[in-house]
Amino acid sequence: MTGIQNKIAVVTGGGRGIGRAIVVELLNDGATVIAYDKVFPDDFDSFAAGCAKEEKKVFKKVVDVTDTDGVQKSIDETAKEFGTVDILVNNAGITRDRLLLRMTEEDWDIVLKVNLKGAFNTIKAVARIMAKQRSGKIINISSVVGVMGNAGQANYSASKAGLIGLTKSIAKELGGRNVTVNCVAPGFVDTEMTHQLTDEQKAAFLTVIPLKRASKPEEVAGVVSFLASSKADYITGQVIMVDGGMVM
Ligand code: NDP
Repeated sequence: MTGIQNKIAVVTGGGRGIGRAIVVELLNDGATVIAYDKVFPDDFDSFAAGCAKEEKKVFKKVVDVTDTDGVQKSIDETAKEFGTVDILVNNAGITRDRLLLRMTEEDWDIVLKVNLKGAFNTIKAVARIMAKQRSGKIINISSVVGVMGNAGQANYSASKAGLIGLTKSIAKELGGRNVTVNCVAPGFVDTEMTHQLTDEQKAAFLTVIPLKRASKPEEVAGVVSFLASSKADYITGQVIMVDGGMVM
């Protein structure tokens, strides 16, 4: 028993990529999962139908994490419909990669708004529920570049470093209410986000990964599911690298 059975989990950016893998993993571990996404891909309904098991199924809700009021309303609706929110995974994220001298204010603002303020919005919306029920698991998807930086990703790296600071601060604030808050920091994962990289950029990543390969989304999802489980009840404020050894 992992302690995830019958828990209610919200996964932002759950429509595709790592988010979708997290949805599957939490569902397989026994949670009821509500995927939040700005736009769901056309194949989402057939995917959701395919992974439904017994009485457990995936629900979806159109939510833009940058919309503060919309996030609060969506979390309130989810809590009303399903009884509560036990697990929150902040996975929604975007990139607008450019070297600093070419980076526009808009590139900076939108990345910080989705990746960092989006997580603030969802955490704020669930915090009262989790504090009141004296239990909860919040997992934020950061990145290795939030720890080590990356040329061409000043905005993205700052947002992911910000998530680590947010995680540690909220872990201290909510620890007394038995709510754990942790980060998972993936390295190079095979998703649509990294399909935008050039072959040279991909090759450069592989040279600094001791395991010499990209990770599968499922390998990130497994760690998220562990942190959401009762096996991780005494872990909070941590950053778990899932990066093939890139940062050590
Ligand atoms: P994808 O681009 O494949 O998926 C990102 C998801 O986030 C999409 O479903 C997207 O929805 C959603 N999203 C974007 N903006 C919003 C928004 N405003 N509100 C709600 N949902 C939104 O990325 P990955 O699966 O690769 O990445 C998932 C997370 O993992 C991100 O936070 C990313 O930064 C992080 N990460 C990824 C790594 C990698 O190598 N892939 C490495 C390290 C970290 P839509 O389709 O509507 O845009």
